Amino acid sequence: MSTALKPLLPGSTLGVLGGGQLGRMWAHAAQRMGYNTAVLDPDAQSPAGLVSHHHIHTDYLDAAGLKQLAAVCQAVTTEFENVPADALAQLAATLPVSPAASAVAVAQDRAREKAHFVKCGVPVAPHAVIDTPEQLAAVNDNLLPGILKTSRMGYDGKGQLRVTTRDELNAGWAKLGKVPCVLEKMLPLASECSVIVARGRDGVMVNLPVQRNLHRDGILAVTEVFAGNVPDVLAQQAIEAAKAVAQELNYVGVLCVEFFVLADGALVVNEIAPRPHNSGHYSQDACDVSQFELQVRTMADLPLTQPRLHSPAFMLNLLGDLWFANTNAAQVEPAWQKVLALPGTHLHLYGKTEARVGRKMGHLNITAPTPEAARAAALQAAAILGIAPF
Ligand code: ATP
Ligand code: MG
Repeated sequence: MSTALKPLLPGSTLGVLGGGQLGRMWAHAAQRMGYNTAVLDPDAQSPAGLVSHHHIHTDYLDAAGLKQLAAVCQAVTTEFENVPADALAQLAATLPVSPAASAVAVAQDRAREKAHFVKCGVPVAPHAVIDTPEQLAAVNDNLLPGILKTSRMGYDGKGQLRVTTRDELNAGWAKLGKVPCVLEKMLPLASECSVIVARGRDGVMVNLPVQRNLHRDGILAVTEVFAGNVPDVLAQQAIEAAKAVAQELNYVGVLCVEFFVLADGALVVNEIAPRPHNSGHYSQDACDVSQFELQVRTMADLPLTQPRLHSPAFMLNLLGDLWFANTNAAQVEPAWQKVLALPGTHLHLYGKTEARVGRKMGHLNITAPTPEAARAAALQAAAILGIAPF
């Protein structure tokens, strides 16, 4: 089903809605390939805006800002899922936008997302949609204990409450402002993993290898990637499920699908992100094509080839907490020189000047000839930085 596409060649300008670290790393990948980049983000100090040829700082729905973005670039993508789908839809009237507003709208809403998984025949956690007091009252007891999640605008575990009893559920919904929510049964997780797929406008799909992820306090802490990080059968299932989810959305771009692996070995899909993902950052140093280059290729209609993992890899998230590891008050730069003395360490910092607890400041990729060597170096780096062992 391959249709000949006319690619946007290097020298063109590619645009992104959102100026966070994902946009910054996308801009680096695009610029390396000879593209100019344009960023729309209200923050004048946005990490991506600081490194781009064009930085438009207006609100995402500002008509003049969107018009300016459309005027300077030849294709647009997004780097965070809470960008108003309307902004993408407006841009799509004049230039290619990937992923499409319709796909982003599904990822923005947990209830729609879950319905999409069910449509794809991919297993999901038992759940109930709670938009009204009647739906709240009708919730089945077997969903408790559960996690109440706002349908929209959640990230890094924000907008979520663990509820054990009906009273807690009722109080929890009130606490979340009685906004549309999804209650998910609390599942016994053995581990978590994710898969990144890229799909071109011609329907060609490629994937990164399955990532095994460790979360702490609802935030990704460590990703490990090497042959055998999850059992082969599970890895195959996860890749097939991720591709089905992308295919069924007629998705164009980079998509991350997150999964739970249950204590009994079953695979359950958690959620999708319509963009490169924190769990795919290792691909910058451990794969021959990174997730950001895949994003560039999909939006420029360049060929997609199956990425190859050339080194076992670990990724450590560098949260703002590390800047306060040795003091409670003053911000102190972590000892990068000690970490970089370890072979195979690759430091990525996002250019954020103010460290805050829980804020994603950067990540450290560790590559090595064997998984054991990569783990040993990752543990050494973690010890130097004050990250708990894993
Ligand atoms: P992000 O977008 O940053 O990945 P999020 O805020 O959208 O996070 P989820 O992915 O829904 O949140 O949940 C965050 C974490 O909470 C999961 O990675 C998992 O560790 C835990 N969790 C979520 N839902 C469940 C569940 N039903 N059962 C057990 N653990 C869960
Ligand atoms: Mg998540």
